[in-house]
Amino acid sequence: MKVFNFNAGPATLPDVVMERAQKEFCDYMGSGCGIMEHSHRHKLFEGVLARANENIRTIMEVPENYDIVYIQGGASMQFAMIPMNLYVPGKAMEFADTGTWSAKAIKEAKLFGETKIIASSKEDKYTYIPDPAKMTPSEDASFFHITSNNTIYGTQYQTFPESKCPMLADMSSDIMSRKLDVSKFGMIYAGAQKNLGPSGMAVVIIRKDLVERTPANVPTMLRYATYTENDSLYNTPPTFGIYMLSLVTDWVREIGGIEEVEKRNNAKAALLYSAIDGSEGFYRNPVAADSRSKMNVIWRLPSEELEAEFVKAATAAGMIGLKGHRSAGGIRASIYNAMPMEGIEKLVDFMADFRKTH
Ligand SMILES: *Cc1c(COP(=O)(O)O)cnc(C)c1O
Repeated sequence: MKVFNFNAGPATLPDVVMERAQKEFCDYMGSGCGIMEHSHRHKLFEGVLARANENIRTIMEVPENYDIVYIQGGASMQFAMIPMNLYVPGKAMEFADTGTWSAKAIKEAKLFGETKIIASSKEDKYTYIPDPAKMTPSEDASFFHITSNNTIYGTQYQTFPESKCPMLADMSSDIMSRKLDVSKFGMIYAGAQKNLGPSGMAVVIIRKDLVERTPANVPTMLRYATYTENDSLYNTPPTFGIYMLSLVTDWVREIGGIEEVEKRNNAKAALLYSAIDGSEGFYRNPVAADSRSKMNVIWRLPSEELEAEFVKAATAAGMIGLKGHRSAGGIRASIYNAMPMEGIEKLVDFMADFRKTH
């Protein structure tokens, strides 16, 4: 049975992308073997890489003075590469702490130098994003790091802070989900497995001047320049992951680009939040109204027993991955770009029925 997959990551991918990958799996463009089996130096893979780059650049309107590279180790590797490459001794690395992923980035930075948390919602169990307009990173900080969407706590920046030092953003769970101005950031990065493709690599969009900061003793594979100077081909990159990303981003362009994606995401989130808000308290979203995520929607039921029953019944009805993260509890529906409106409609119908019968 085909299910609606609400997993937080790895996550659902568009049906048309999965079907196209299946069709091309054993014979890519008449070459007699799959793209996975081709050399990363082969012109067919070069074409894939070029298309991935061009798609990201076009969809996100990435300016010319930024490079786009693919680095193994997911977003978590970036938590270490960022301070290794971008820390300037004597200048603190500043952070907004809005959840588990921010905290992990801070933990790695501490291994390399001075860190400063300039905004945090930790005391309130990460139920909101501190007002971005009131975040004031220092002009001479090494950088200021934010997590644009908090996958576990279901919060998301609705606007971004202003920063005179380079602002870096972990956009793992909301990259390419809405229009934004890349030039406001020194670097944007994301594990690919939520909105872009399979797991195991990070997409890194980095301003060219920042690449030059790296101290001499950082190993080759951990230097941004190794990737930017070799178009991600210094060693063998995750070719299949990049291929899948090229298909997913083809799909984004085919359906109408970032405007259409954002429009759909707004409509999906609105429907789901209205089902929660209209449930007379049976379903309850703990997040501040101005911080609600359009990618990860979380809610509670009157008891943990009912939550367990909800997840079980939803699974039986063909909706998987709804159990909340173990640190937050409750229910979480991850509704990334590839989740169709039909999935949300089915979920809200199920929610209404479940409430009536419980
Ligand atoms: C999923 C996620 C990560 C971790 O990504 P990995 O690729 O598993 O390292 C980091 N940050 C955010 C915001 C995430 O959602």
